[in-house]
Amino acid sequence: MGANETIGINLDHLRLLILGGTGDATELLAKASLLPQLQIMTSLAGRTQHPVVPAGAVRIGGFGGVEGLVTYLQQHQIDLLIDATHPFAAQISHHAAAAAAACGIPHLILSRPAWQPVPGDRWLDVERIEAAATILPDRAKRVFLTTGRQQLAAFAHLESLWFLMRMIDPPLSGTAVPPGELLFDRGPFSLQDELTLMTHYGIDTVVSKNSGGEATYAKIRAARELGLPVVMVRRPMLPAAEVAPDIPAAMAWLTRHIHP
Ligand code: NAP
Repeated sequence: MGANETIGINLDHLRLLILGGTGDATELLAKASLLPQLQIMTSLAGRTQHPVVPAGAVRIGGFGGVEGLVTYLQQHQIDLLIDATHPFAAQISHHAAAAAAACGIPHLILSRPAWQPVPGDRWLDVERIEAAATILPDRAKRVFLTTGRQQLAAFAHLESLWFLMRMIDPPLSGTAVPPGELLFDRGPFSLQDELTLMTHYGIDTVVSKNSGGEATYAKIRAARELGLPVVMVRRPMLPAAEVAPDIPAAMAWLTRHIHP
């Protein structure tokens, strides 16, 4: 369904918009689809070439800022908004909070808790991706860079290091890419595969966003087992909003709004 198509009016249903692009959004959709009171639309940004397209009604592409999202919510008479985007997709989360407030509709952020270090972890916490690039040259030679294709340019000037760069799609043409090898793959990843990969490439340091959740946690476990440091990029600030840490909590929120 295209971005401008309308959902047919059905007064028996509440209309839920899920902002997606994550495994959690897909899982939430599967569960929420079992609630007969809901009519659900999922929205994807359109970043990946071959997205995992969720079942049901899907629209793809940006809304055009807060204003565009407000227009969308109004035109499609959305009753409930769940932001299930990735914790590092900060812009859309802030837009969603502002748009939901402007329209006066209930809004929930589904966000897995951040990973916390456990004994054996050797984390170097950094505020931003650029800070990760700043501290690498003094500590690393062969880096497993798992922050995705949009962040490659921040490391491109580090010519004395070697990078194994994992991402879903190739970098866009014109992107500055650090020296090393590109690896195209999509999680979830297993501990054994991460151990094999890091050992095979002689990795001495991992760079990761603190995404939380299980799907990409194996690299953190593998780094622990191999005694490797992880440069961990902290999450951006979420907007002030109700937050559900997992799918059951998001389902409970939905149920409360269906049966107030
Ligand atoms: P972002 O920086 O927060 O958003 C940039 C712009 O992309 C937004 O202003 C919005 O455009 C559009 N957008 C983002 N998510 C959207 C959605 N679900 N539906 C419609 N438009 C959306 O986001 P990002 O970090 O580029 O991430 C883009 C998508 O990839 C998100 O859906 C996110 O869940 C997924 N993802 C991101 C990461 C990550 O590390 N950032 C990792 C895994 C998955 P307009 O202003 O025009 O509305």
